[in-house]
Amino acid sequence: MKTKFTPPKKYFSNANRYTRAGKNGRDILCPECREWGKVYHFSWSALGCTHCSAIVNKEDWIIEKSVK
Ligand SMILES: [Zn+2]
Repeated sequence: MKTKFTPPKKYFSNANRYTRAGKNGRDILCPECREWGKVYHFSWSALGCTHCSAIVNKEDWIIEKSVK
């Protein structure tokens, strides 16, 4: 039996200082409660989660990235 491996087109990564929201905003995943939120800019160093109220540093937020 042959197993076909398809590489994922998307993967998760942490936000960093180069992360940009783009004009349609960007979904970010809270590492505390695993709920998605949306931001329209990244000119902050930490953000309070709207779901669990945790203050999460930018580098700890999880974003979805596309494989180039
Ligand atoms: Zn949260």
